[in-house]
Amino acid sequence: MILDLDPTLLESEVSALCLRLKQMKFVPVKQPGCRLALVQGVDKHVRPDAFLHLHGVQKVSPLKEKYKLASRFSHPEPTIIECKGKRIGGGHLFVAAGPCSIESKEQMDASAKAAAAHGATALRGGAFKPRTSPYDFQGMGEEGLQILRDAGEKYNLLTLSEVMEPAQVELAAGYVDILQVGARNMQNFSLLKELGKVKNPILLKRGFSATYQDLLMAAEYIMAHGNPNVILCERGIRTFETYTRNTLDLNAVCALKELTHLPIVVDPSHGTGIRSFVAPMSLASIAAGADGLVIEMHPDPDRSLSDAQQTISFDAFGKIMRDATLIKQTLAEASVI
Ligand code: PEP
Ligand code: MN
Repeated sequence: MILDLDPTLLESEVSALCLRLKQMKFVPVKQPGCRLALVQGVDKHVRPDAFLHLHGVQKVSPLKEKYKLASRFSHPEPTIIECKGKRIGGGHLFVAAGPCSIESKEQMDASAKAAAAHGATALRGGAFKPRTSPYDFQGMGEEGLQILRDAGEKYNLLTLSEVMEPAQVELAAGYVDILQVGARNMQNFSLLKELGKVKNPILLKRGFSATYQDLLMAAEYIMAHGNPNVILCERGIRTFETYTRNTLDLNAVCALKELTHLPIVVDPSHGTGIRSFVAPMSLASIAAGADGLVIEMHPDPDRSLSDAQQTISFDAFGKIMRDATLIKQTLAEASVI
């Protein structure tokens, strides 16, 4: 249920209304503008006019989607997430670039230098790696997070790294700006709840076989537990096609723009699994309206300890940045005309 309030209400009157709603066993969550979303305790039998007599309530609209806080209906304006003076969403181009795994100080320093020189927003790198085989490189752990933080600070880049379990969240949140939930953990509900307790933006990747609704419900978990700063990431899904690693679903960008106010970015590296596909699919993503990209690049791509086949060079990344910026500008100009 969405309650639109009288815009002249005083802060104290809104608080009194929230208290009254809590007494009625509803959970009100403030939305931008003069709105409250009731996210719990709304049973199907409660009629909208049950709220109309409350002081300050002007309009009551039922929320038909299961996701309440992530819904565009409850929050029509796109969310812009601010982090250390950088903006994510709402027409700003967000690009996170860096290796699949953090391997050494030198590798991260070189990657950060190139990412910053080409205009990236963030430096990515995995310290806790979800590998299909237990015999593959599992990541450098906390030492990797320190290396990532230092490289990010040196080149004024935000940092992005994955957490795989609740016990890693507090530790990683102390080093990393944006915490990533990988595709394999999109429905790790205890992890999602833990991420609701921190203030860091969360980059939530779509699971291999998750629908848009599944992805939005996962975002809802994080938001309902207190963290509204969720960035959605399309990274390809499993289909019958085996030529590419995954099938990059660019419909997701259009659909999610309709369904939610949260920023949506695309990872064409995992979405394709093929180095030569990363540039065209990056540009297609931006043309489709994505708010940004997550790209794997490495000083020596063939020697990457993980995901070498989809990792691009610094030069290739520079060209993507130039072309993506042009596409974004062209789209912005076209919408003004
Ligand atoms: C990654 O970003 O390195 C990663 C493992 O991604 P995904 O969860 O999308 O496979
Ligand atoms: Mn990877």
